[in-house]
Amino acid sequence: MRSSSTQYDVIVMGVGGIGSAAVYHLARRGLDVLGLDQYNIPNSIGSSHGDSRLIRLTNHEDPEYVPHVRRSISLWESLEEEYGEQLLHRTGTVDAGPADSETVRGSLKACTDYDLPYEHLSAGELSEKFPGFELPQEFEAVYQPDGGFINPTKCVQAHVELAQEHGATTHAHETVVDWESTANSVTVETDRTTYEANHVVVTAGAWTQLLVEELEETLTPWRVIVGGFQPENRSQFTADSFPVFSIEDEQQSYYGGPAAGTSGFKFGLVDNLEDVADPNDFDPRPTEKERERLRTVLHENAQRYFPEGAKSIKRLKTCMVTHTPDQDFIVDYLPSDPNVVVGAGFSGKGFKFSCLMGELLADLVTESDSAVDIDLFDIDRFQTMPR
Ligand SMILES: Cc1cc2nc3c(=O)[nH]c(=O)nc-3n(C[C@H](O)[C@H](O)[C@H](O)COP(=O)(O)OP(=O)(O)OC[C@H]3O[C@@H](n4cnc5c(N)ncnc54)[C@H](O)[C@@H]3O)c2cc1C
Repeated sequence: MRSSSTQYDVIVMGVGGIGSAAVYHLARRGLDVLGLDQYNIPNSIGSSHGDSRLIRLTNHEDPEYVPHVRRSISLWESLEEEYGEQLLHRTGTVDAGPADSETVRGSLKACTDYDLPYEHLSAGELSEKFPGFELPQEFEAVYQPDGGFINPTKCVQAHVELAQEHGATTHAHETVVDWESTANSVTVETDRTTYEANHVVVTAGAWTQLLVEELEETLTPWRVIVGGFQPENRSQFTADSFPVFSIEDEQQSYYGGPAAGTSGFKFGLVDNLEDVADPNDFDPRPTEKERERLRTVLHENAQRYFPEGAKSIKRLKTCMVTHTPDQDFIVDYLPSDPNVVVGAGFSGKGFKFSCLMGELLADLVTESDSAVDIDLFDIDRFQTMPR
């Protein structure tokens, strides 16, 4: 039980995609939780905003994450039920490219290893099923019916609103400036006041390495762009008629999905433009170099594979993602401070897992068994330095 308004069981630093889920899962377990964010909750400055984030059960780049996607889908469904609004749009997913591409091979491996339902299609069969696709004849595609997309802004909102119903407190526009832990508690200093908690959870996205010194060399924030296009034939590119997709060609890999909200037909490149020296200086306005990349790389390739989907440019969105060196996540206690738990380094692919990461972070705080294997997310693999 809270003894004063500055004392909590757990303080969550950063209420974005992952932090909002942590606040929710901790509050559901009856803990007295405070979530702090330096900006709006939800905000459009960190990594968790916009109309869609893809969720692919095949997860062709890391098939060992299939159980984690499965658990995430089941958690999104429970959240939807509790919130009473649709969060997950099951469009199905397509992974396509030359037969020997990592995308097609990885996707087939995930489907066979984990017994997922799928169809292995030629480029012609894919166009018959989804007329929006016009891929080269030599491409193959794996269609898996269970994936789709989720709306990140709405998911953050759902987690936070339900967390509050379970008794959590959240403060927007309150910045954590420092913290210090002792054997039994952690003191958290913000730009408004000082709090005490038994545990803290650091889910500060691109700012995590500013709050956790020993992760300074491990986490790198990157600036990425994603394009939105106006389809010529709108009905072929809605969430009811068109799947989310990954495509690999000789040059690069792309991802995207149906027009959702105000974003238009989504088409992005799986690469990072440049690293962000200081996330506090991140300027979301597109640079001239990014506009040029939108016109050439993004629009030209979107038109090549989806001639009816990318009639004109609708928008260019910039965002930060935060990578670890091996692009696996960090969800662990700090070796130097066992009452500090970190969820970070989601390497441009974390949103689909945010509900699960919230659950795993709550498991670490409450020392509960986790539904999935978390050894992949061990912090020790980076040989962190003592604080
Ligand atoms: C364009 C784009 C497309 C993507 N596509 C996909 C996709 O298709 N599928 C997928 O799964 N993932 C995708 N991702 C990745 C995914 O969105 C991220 O992995 C995820 O959103 C990371 O969430 P986070 O909670 O770590 O960070 P954030 O959501 O940014 O949360 C961090 C929060 O911490 C707060 N904070 C930081 N410092 C402080 C402080 N000192 N005090 C208080 N608050 C603080 C910030 O204000 C912020 O709200 C994409 C990302 C981008 C940018």
